[in-house]
Amino acid sequence: MKKAIYPGSFDPVTFGHLDIIRRAAESFDELTVSVLNNVNKRALFTVDERVAMLKEATKDIPNIKVESFCGLLIDYAKEKDIHTVIRGLRAITDFEYELQNAQTNRMLSKGELDTMFLATSLEYAYLSSSSVKEIASFGGDISPCVPTFVAEAIYAKYKGESL
Ligand code: ADP
Repeated sequence: MKKAIYPGSFDPVTFGHLDIIRRAAESFDELTVSVLNNVNKRALFTVDERVAMLKEATKDIPNIKVESFCGLLIDYAKEKDIHTVIRGLRAITDFEYELQNAQTNRMLSKGELDTMFLATSLEYAYLSSSSVKEIASFGGDISPCVPTFVAEAIYAKYKGESL
């Protein structure tokens, strides 16, 4: 079975992530989308909230699993017998960081874990979770960026309401 993992912060999931997920899911039998539980990164949503949003947003794609992990990606991938990482590339600014991560994972895994990049669809090239949060924090319209239920959850966070 051809398996891959798409790791990320997904704080929160955007149409850019969903585009990568849909396209990657077409090329693999099983795609695990995994939320990185990074204690060093301040997030708007908890890991459980991010997992729940990803599950809801991908519920129509049959070969997707949504999980979370902490620690090294290579250990997590090995445990699940996954040898391919999916990452999205928006612009040249993503490239250096992504290339370094891909090389590091190859080195640490002794060549067992390779990375495949999908170039962003042009309509989502400008989209990032951070910009979506910034726009929402000032009450701007984020409907072109995220599913409606995610937009509502973001506005609720900024209003201080519990989800
Ligand atoms: P991280 O903090 O790990 O970069 P993100 O949730 O920001 O996590 O992104 C996860 C992956 O999705 C990264 O590979 C990132 O480049 C990719 N990505 C994010 N937004 C887009 C987008 N609009 N188009 C394509 N890929 C994207």
